[in-house]
Amino acid sequence: MALGTATVPYEPRFDAGRICLDLLATTHPVERLDSLAPLRAWITGSGLVPPGTPLAHADAAWLTAFRELRGCVGQLVRGCLNGEPRSYDLGSALDRVNDLARAAAPPAPRAVRGEDGRLVRELAGPPECAALLAALARDVVELLTDPVARASLRQCEGDNCPIVYLDMSRGRRRRWCSSEVCGNRERVARHRRRAALARA
Ligand SMILES: [Zn+2]
Repeated sequence: MALGTATVPYEPRFDAGRICLDLLATTHPVERLDSLAPLRAWITGSGLVPPGTPLAHADAAWLTAFRELRGCVGQLVRGCLNGEPRSYDLGSALDRVNDLARAAAPPAPRAVRGEDGRLVRELAGPPECAALLAALARDVVELLTDPVARASLRQCEGDNCPIVYLDMSRGRRRRWCSSEVCGNRERVARHRRRAALARA
C-alpha cells in the first residue's frame, strides 16, 4: 500500500475481532449507521446474516435499536479496558444487553444446496430485528464473561482512534486497530519527521 492518506477508514471495518466490537467501530471516523443502506450493508458484511439474506424490511426502528445497543456495548467494553469493571461502571447498559440477549433467539442458520450443488448457509426467512440484536447481545455477554477475551481488549494507539479490538496476536503486542489504517498513518508520520530532519 502506498504511503499517503488511507482511503480505508471510509470502508466499513470488520477487523476488531468480535462482531460486537465491529458494531462499536461504526461510530468512527464518522457515524456509519446513518441510514438504512449502510445498516443493511453492515449487517451482511459483519457476517451477522449470510450473504443474500433479505433485509428490505429493515426500517428506521432498526437504526435506532442498533445504535442504542452500540451505546451499551461502548459503555461496557470501555468499562473493561482498565482492568475489572466495577459494578457502577456497568449499570443499566448491562441490564439492557442482558434483556436483549434473552428477548429473542438469534436467527437460526440452515445448510442448503447452492446453485452449484455445494452447501451454503442461509436463514429460513428474513430475520427480525430483535433476533439480530439478540445475536449481538449474546456476543457481548460471551465477551464480558470470558476472562481471556476481556483481558485482551485494547484501544488502538492511533491518534484519536477510539476503536477497541481484541488483541489475539502472539505475545499480545498488537498496537493498532489496523496496520493499514492507524499503523500506516504512524509510518507516514515517522517518514515525514525523518524527511523534515534530513532537510533541516
Ligand atoms: Zn486505530
